[in-house]
Amino acid sequence: MSLTTMIKNSIVNIFGYLKNSRNSKAIFYHDIHSSKLFTNMSTPLEMFEKHIKIIREMGFEIVPEITEEKNQIEISFDDGFVGIFENIDIINRLKIPITLFIIPSFLGEDNFLTKKQLVTMSKNPLINIQSHTFSHKDLSNLSVEILISELSNSKTILEDICEKEIVSLCYPMGMFSENVVSKSKEIGYKRQYSSLPGIYENEVFPEVKRRSLVQFLNVNQFKNILKGGDDFLNYWYTKKYFTK
Ligand SMILES: [Zn+2]
Repeated sequence: MSLTTMIKNSIVNIFGYLKNSRNSKAIFYHDIHSSKLFTNMSTPLEMFEKHIKIIREMGFEIVPEITEEKNQIEISFDDGFVGIFENIDIINRLKIPITLFIIPSFLGEDNFLTKKQLVTMSKNPLINIQSHTFSHKDLSNLSVEILISELSNSKTILEDICEKEIVSLCYPMGMFSENVVSKSKEIGYKRQYSSLPGIYENEVFPEVKRRSLVQFLNVNQFKNILKGGDDFLNYWYTKKYFTK
């Protein structure tokens, strides 16, 4: 474990204990797996199930979309790996509403969902399909033309596949800028999901939602994140992910 990770873990544990917050939070994963692994970012099923149990035991409600300042948890999965399709039973059995952020140009590639699998998933009332751009480029670093095509192509393609309006965007690698926020808003993305940890609502950019990556957290770390232990890391991550 690196020194930075150790320092971050200690901050999360101390502040989680001190804050004991009930603020609503968005959390995210990349995939879930039982035996077959589709990405090294995948969470083992047992760990995922443990997380869900903790959320509910702590009295949070898992919702498709956060509408209240307190007591709600929103869960998303980035990139569209096959594990979530193969392990959909756990989502159905535990009745967990989730959002999948999909990259249309990756559909059908090794380890990624096929278009047919996505169509099946989109018919599940627990699953909300949204956009992770057309080809997963760093949006903060593109010409205006390419930025617009990344944002609008994925929206159009997913609207066609899922037969519904696509209104949420997730930034690839978490990277964004003021220009990305305004162009995405213009194109019709009402909610934009970042990788900045902490409280869901963002006072600087109301469209930009904060999310905490929880895919490998043990029970203790996970509890402290739910209690707001990572709210204080926001400054650190803003420097990493945001350019003016
Ligand atoms: Zn991604």
